[in-house]
Amino acid sequence: MANKLVIEDVSTIDNYTCEVNFRSTFDHLFTGNTFWVSYGCDVSSLPDNILVIPALTTLVPVAWAESADIYVSELDRTFYYTLYALQAAWKEVPTKFGPTGDIYFGNLVENHQPEAGSKSALLFSGGVDSHYSYVEHRQEDPLLVTIHGSDISLDSPEEFNQVKNHVEEFATPRGLDQLSIASNHREILEYPLLDHYYRSNVSRGWWATLQYGLGMIGLCAPLVGTDEIDTVYVSSGHQDFELEPAIHPRLIEQLEWANAHAELVGEGITRQDKLEQISEYIRSDDRPIHIRSCFRHHDAQNCMECEKCSRTALGLLFTGVDPCEHGYPLDATTLEDIRRKLIRGVWTFKSVHVGLWRELKAAADPESEYPINGAQEFVEWLSDADIGSFKSDGRSPRTKRDFIPESLYPIAYRARKRVRDIAAQNS
Ligand SMILES: [Zn+2]
Repeated sequence: MANKLVIEDVSTIDNYTCEVNFRSTFDHLFTGNTFWVSYGCDVSSLPDNILVIPALTTLVPVAWAESADIYVSELDRTFYYTLYALQAAWKEVPTKFGPTGDIYFGNLVENHQPEAGSKSALLFSGGVDSHYSYVEHRQEDPLLVTIHGSDISLDSPEEFNQVKNHVEEFATPRGLDQLSIASNHREILEYPLLDHYYRSNVSRGWWATLQYGLGMIGLCAPLVGTDEIDTVYVSSGHQDFELEPAIHPRLIEQLEWANAHAELVGEGITRQDKLEQISEYIRSDDRPIHIRSCFRHHDAQNCMECEKCSRTALGLLFTGVDPCEHGYPLDATTLEDIRRKLIRGVWTFKSVHVGLWRELKAAADPESEYPINGAQEFVEWLSDADIGSFKSDGRSPRTKRDFIPESLYPIAYRARKRVRDIAAQNS
């Protein structure tokens, strides 16, 4: 018997929340929760064929991994063709999945909304990629969409509120609209099982390889009817690096529904080049920008202790802006701390980090003047540093010898030698 995924029911339980019930022949890959998504705007007048899209973008990859046929009573015509285009792309992306199933529907509906001249939305979490995407598309005054239930768990409403306030501080002075979407789309899949069964297909894990991006854009599909959004921008992170979740560009290109589509921003642009563009914008616009890029803190603050905070602060500094004014309190003490952590191997520092820090080193100019105390000395040190030697698993900090600042090492070595010599003479 062929595997099946059946969408049983789509309903709005209040004006803002939509629920989708489903069943399958591979229910062990689901937690048993009903899928739900809630919007900061009224979605009750939208048709089921649009409201089902957020659930499908999360469920369909599981169905295809299981070569299952999909049954749904009503589908948007454009999205139906998108599913077949995604199927074709699915076999090309590096996940190397095999054959997929068919899609069966009761009714195919042509949606004409939105009309030409409508608006765009940007998935905005407040990090470097989000800010770069805004700078690139700022002429469109995009609606900033922040999702609760993706990188910030539904169990942490406080953290999400802080992020929402952070986005608001960016949006308000620019006259931008802001919308929050909450969903349990990360609570319906059995990730440990999916990551186990499909470990050879999803090297970054199921969420980071497949659901991230695809599922998040899917959550935005109903905005075509509520806010006349015809383009949803999603930021491209580093495709080659395994540090962060990323959506494959080949999948994004296929995503269309009604008269709307998704677009990837910044593909092929390095993080340092993105920071350069953001800095150029900062210099031309005096409204505040505070970037939030920390992995350790999911609230609106950067910890300034982790590798990513340090790298981003330095990246901003090397573009010539003061990182302290944009969310990264950097001073002579933190600079020295960064240097010690690199030398001592405190952070996990893999090949991907070597690439990122080499990019950073290339941006550091010993001839430039930087607005932070201690920056000149740091840049001189970094310019001579062997980035490859910083590789570390972060668990076994290197010896005291490495802990001594490199510039002081000859003095320390001579002093220790002298102490040893005196001790030898006196013995
Ligand atoms: Zn941090």
